[in-house]
Amino acid sequence: MTSHIRDVPDYPKPGVVFKDITPLLAEPAAFGAMTAEFVRIATELGATKVVGLEARGFILAAPVAVDGGFGFVPVRKAGKLPGEVFAVSYQLEYGEAVLEIHRDSFQPGDRVLIVDDVLATGGTAAAALQAIRECGAETVGLAVLLELTFLDGRARLSAEAPAMPVHAL
Ligand code: IMP
Repeated sequence: MTSHIRDVPDYPKPGVVFKDITPLLAEPAAFGAMTAEFVRIATELGATKVVGLEARGFILAAPVAVDGGFGFVPVRKAGKLPGEVFAVSYQLEYGEAVLEIHRDSFQPGDRVLIVDDVLATGGTAAAALQAIRECGAETVGLAVLLELTFLDGRARLSAEAPAMPVHAL
């Protein structure tokens, strides 16, 4: 799968090497293998819902929901969801961002797998975790395609949820 990921130097700013997953999405066998692996993880964890993080997390999580028979729940950037939301703000390298989730996204007993493309500092996933908690649901794991280990997102997440498994394909 990694052979379908393109390194783009100096994007979005000088000194950063961006991991571009669009070549993988354009390759049905690789996209399918990734989806099957996410479905396997979600099933093993006993998930009932998958949460996709805007925007690339939507692309990855939606086929997992359909193939695995899980409900799909979007976590969106501020101001995009029409219903009542819980909002969580979190630090970016420069400034702050806000993630939102519909308050009525879950039913009692729901078990949630968060799906995203890249785990970097862990700030985005930690904010999603907090939003899901506000809804009263349990997050049983985080699954990403890629983990940038040098940014130590796992440590950030284990401070929030010590027992939560993190799977990076
Ligand atoms: P974090 O909050 O620092 O862990 O950053 C993770 C978020 O930023 C994810 O939602 C990713 O989509 C995005 N991201 C960070 N680095 C990259 C990258 O190299 N390629 C694609 N997305 C990235």
